[in-house]
Amino acid sequence: MDELLEQILRDCHPYTTEGKLANYIPELAKANPDDFGIYIISSDDRINRAGDYNKTFTIQSIVKPILLLLALMDNGIETVREHVGVEATGKPFDAINYSEQSLLSDHLNPMVNMGAIAMCTLIKGESYLERFERLLELTRKLAGNPSIQLDEAVYLSEKRTGSKNRALAYLLKTYGMITDDVEDVLDCYFRACSIKVNCADLAKIGYTLANHGRAPFSGERLFPEQYASYVNAILMTCGMYDGSGEFAVKVGVPAKSGVGGGIMAVVPTRMGIGIFSPALDQKGNSVAGIKALELLSKKLYLSIF
Ligand code: GLN
Repeated sequence: MDELLEQILRDCHPYTTEGKLANYIPELAKANPDDFGIYIISSDDRINRAGDYNKTFTIQSIVKPILLLLALMDNGIETVREHVGVEATGKPFDAINYSEQSLLSDHLNPMVNMGAIAMCTLIKGESYLERFERLLELTRKLAGNPSIQLDEAVYLSEKRTGSKNRALAYLLKTYGMITDDVEDVLDCYFRACSIKVNCADLAKIGYTLANHGRAPFSGERLFPEQYASYVNAILMTCGMYDGSGEFAVKVGVPAKSGVGGGIMAVVPTRMGIGIFSPALDQKGNSVAGIKALELLSKKLYLSIF
């Protein structure tokens, strides 16, 4: 299996030059487009990995399913559903998803920015810094890695330049969908996106979702089973933004991408997969990462369809 992964990385390496590094967050443009790694945990506790699986990058949008899990753990499905919907937007991750006169909670999707910013207000904590710290703690717990930290430079870079996210947050405020101070809420969102992970962390988090809320190796229950189903269903329809349909056809498993170049894939009951290659397509998804998942899915019959 390790050989298969090496082979897939070799075959897909040419795609690392096809995409572009995210540069709307200046710090992300410093990534090395040549980095390419994969890490897989399977249900028989096997680990397979290849390439730059140890290199760190910021989690970016892959924090959204973790944010959703924490919102569910803090409030339950009913309350979360009242604030943030489940329908795919079919639009880019930073789209101002606003039609004419009204913005309703059903218009918000937890896997795109507007929904994620709204979810920061649902998680519990005395201050927004405390909310972020609880999210960081959950990320460490799901990844089984207590050393996961914030990437301060990326956080500051995004905070300085995040005008579009500010626009989204102010729109939420205008329509009463967030009531707290916009900058406080955004600070939590920017920090959340700047958590530093590697492929192994993503594979472990993905595995807990694939394994209905139980940790790899120990089998410890980390969150209720029905939350895994809820999150996985949304990842399937929206995890790759407006590329989710294409991804469902080509790969066929729930997954989440981030503009740091990571992809976390969830193969229900079978595997958690973490992939990293920072060059992105126009939708903000890792080009070589998707290609590698496509080959892997064909080889190992991963598609759930
Ligand atoms: N931090 C990024 C942003 O808000 C996350 C987007 C992404 O990973 N697609 O723009």
